Amino acid sequence: MKNAIFWFRRDLRLADNAGLFHALKQNNPVQCIFIFDKVILDKLPKNDARVTFIYDELLSIKSELESLGSTLEMYYGNPIEVWKSIIQEKEVCKVFTNRDYEPYAKDRDKKVAELLDKNNISFNHFKDHIIFEGNEVCKSDGLPYTVFTPFKKKWIAKLDEKIWNKNSYFLTEYPCEKYFDNFVKSHSASKISLSEMGFERSTIKFPSKIVAQKIILKYDEQRNFPGIDGTSKLGIHFRFGTISIREKARKALALNQVFLSELIWRDFYAQILDAFPHVTKGAFRPKYDKVEWRFDEQEYMAWCEGKTGYPIVDAGMRELNTTGYMHNRVRMIVASFLTKHLLHHWSLGENYFAEKLLDFDLASNSGGWQWASGTGTDAAPYFRIFNPTSQQTKFDKDFVYIKKWVPEYGTESYVKPIVEHKFARERCLSTYKSALA
Ligand SMILES: Cc1cc2nc3c(=O)[nH]c(=O)nc-3n(C[C@H](O)[C@H](O)[C@H](O)COP(=O)(O)OP(=O)(O)OC[C@H]3O[C@@H](n4cnc5c(N)ncnc54)[C@H](O)[C@@H]3O)c2cc1C
Repeated sequence: MKNAIFWFRRDLRLADNAGLFHALKQNNPVQCIFIFDKVILDKLPKNDARVTFIYDELLSIKSELESLGSTLEMYYGNPIEVWKSIIQEKEVCKVFTNRDYEPYAKDRDKKVAELLDKNNISFNHFKDHIIFEGNEVCKSDGLPYTVFTPFKKKWIAKLDEKIWNKNSYFLTEYPCEKYFDNFVKSHSASKISLSEMGFERSTIKFPSKIVAQKIILKYDEQRNFPGIDGTSKLGIHFRFGTISIREKARKALALNQVFLSELIWRDFYAQILDAFPHVTKGAFRPKYDKVEWRFDEQEYMAWCEGKTGYPIVDAGMRELNTTGYMHNRVRMIVASFLTKHLLHHWSLGENYFAEKLLDFDLASNSGGWQWASGTGTDAAPYFRIFNPTSQQTKFDKDFVYIKKWVPEYGTESYVKPIVEHKFARERCLSTYKSALA
């Protein structure tokens, strides 16, 4: 009997996995695979912590599969070439996977689907990464929403549209384990090592998948204060699908609506990237491409290294550089500072975050940077400029966060501000204004 293949990508789990569920439910035995994509990996630094994270998650999936008498086959190369060799070596009739909405992934999948089609192999893909995709939540004229609040309203209404076992149909779990006996029986496959792919093992500590319930219960009160451990730190797990968005949305619905709202932001930006892929190259609102950005190497490096003389900005950048994480409130402040106070192009900051953030996600990162620079979907006008000092007074008034990351703050050795706030604010306003005139 020919095999079906399940192709893991950004859905690294065996439980409640839509594509895997559909693969296991059909008759052909299922072989699981993962492809380390050389096209992506070649652009990453050799100590990239995310590669270690993916690698370790795959090893744990592999050992789970081995305990079920099956295995995970890992490949390393250009996905199209890898698929060509799989087709030659194996008797495959169907491929299953979950959809990915990034432009590179859509293009890759189109090519893989064509290749499979030529070989009479079906390519079956499913929604798993987000709750609603495409036109499931759209305006009454069928066009995608470009403003968050009405998107959120419709998103919540859609959730209530179909109720299944007292739960929204859209949040229902896919019980993969019921069909685990349909994994192909195979011997343990050899594994590729990190060093074979040119990577070193990272020593960064990854956030846990398990979040204390009290964090979610108090999320609305605590989430804005970077000195408090008040957010889930689940970003990396959502990014690589090591947790199920449906499960977390069910919990959010029961425990905290503000937390749910953040998960809706995630859906919103995924939908924006899918419908408006130009956001990866230019402003969401193209007229903002006319802004005359500055570039000053020293100022940019001061921002990267956390040496701007604005302690909340510096604390955020140092947290990022040390841990691969930065609190959301501080992400907004540092992004506003780079684009508005220093008037540097948002893509510089976007790329820096893409390199450093453990939870880097193209859709949310692009959305966050364009929101902060005023070039994106946000309905707020560009002339709302964060004052880093008043943000600090409001959100870190006892300097808890700042003292943790900028211990020299308040001493002679702390740097002087690289730009004066009032001057920067006026320069920003006049530059944006003349671009939009
Ligand atoms: C400039 C900038 C860049 C950002 N880059 C990214 C990125 O690359 N990847 C990323 O996942 N988020 C990004 N965000 C959004 C947000 O800052 C992070 O999702 C959040 O800080 C992650 O921490 P957490 O897991 O503790 O989040 P929590 O506050 O516990 O939220 C739970 C989850 O909701 C989602 N979420 C929360 N806020 C947002 C938001 N504003 N937009 C989209 N999803 C959200 C995330 O999946 C997050 O893990 C960015 C925000 C800004 C302002």
